[in-house]
Amino acid sequence: MTDATASGRNDRGEWRPEGKIAVPPINHWPPRPGAVLRWLFRFPGYLWPLNAFWLGITLVTWTWLTPELASMKSLELWWIALLLGRNLGFILLLYGGLHLYLYVFELQGKSFRFTLKPLATDSGRFLFRHQVRDNMFHALVSGVLVVTGYEVLTYWGFANGTLGYVDAGASPLLFWGWFVALLILAPVVHSAHFYFAHRLLHVRFLYRKVHVLHHHNVEVGPWSGLAMHPVEHFLYFSTVVVQWLVALHPVNALFQIHIAVFNAATAHTGFEKLKIGERLVIDGGSYFHYLHHKYFECNYGGNLASLDKLFGTFHDGSDEAQAAMRRRLRAIREAEGNS
Ligand SMILES: [Zn+2]
Ligand SMILES: [Zn+2]
Repeated sequence: MTDATASGRNDRGEWRPEGKIAVPPINHWPPRPGAVLRWLFRFPGYLWPLNAFWLGITLVTWTWLTPELASMKSLELWWIALLLGRNLGFILLLYGGLHLYLYVFELQGKSFRFTLKPLATDSGRFLFRHQVRDNMFHALVSGVLVVTGYEVLTYWGFANGTLGYVDAGASPLLFWGWFVALLILAPVVHSAHFYFAHRLLHVRFLYRKVHVLHHHNVEVGPWSGLAMHPVEHFLYFSTVVVQWLVALHPVNALFQIHIAVFNAATAHTGFEKLKIGERLVIDGGSYFHYLHHKYFECNYGGNLASLDKLFGTFHDGSDEAQAAMRRRLRAIREAEGNS
């Protein structure tokens, strides 16, 4: 196990992973199907452990923590309140659990932590002048309300036949094949949707009025993940709309929602990797997104990176990528100056 206090810290005390951020083989051209297949099924890889774990939570949630679909045909307070309470519980458990693990009990020490600076406790940038309380407020109030709103509309739509209008009985093989394909594709959908929604949030007007709230978190902790303006929550969780258009089963939509909820926590831990015990080390893609918080104009999408690669906004953490980003920004500024 690499000790984060050894070779990986620069003279400012910042932990910088060695080498460039490796992108998954779906980014390679010409395509390498063998490498893609290996990446899909290896451990750790695309499916295991993180996405499979999230899917497990989704299946448990659907089976035991969600009312019967037929009972959600009309909008009634009891089941909406149930979903609201359950989502509040999930976010408290995951975000609060990670925060306690990493920042309160410091069970991982400083291993893989990007900065040695504490999270802000007296800064005018944050509500209550306190970064964690500010972040919790946004996550637990508008975050929980907006994500639950999308989930309510999902079940109501499926229960009424407005969404998922194909009957499983008509062609079970096609139905369940499509079901599995959409489960496998859900993280790609998330990554791509996040890219476009996030680029939109960086349009000057939206950035200043909305997204700046999230970027007050230069150094991040798990709760920063959902520290967003309500408009950003609305855009961020709209990833489920993709499933409204294509899914035949509500679990596909629920999984899409869950990926958005859970990924926001793992992408903002403030640690390159999460160590559980001495053997299990999970990379939630947080260095990729950490660079976005540090430099703003790069790594807009998820850590699958395809769209950032395609549109030239990928930053792999290297000096060359830093120089390329500077050149790109200078060209944009010059173009704006000439117009
Ligand atoms: Zn962020
Ligand atoms: Zn941003």
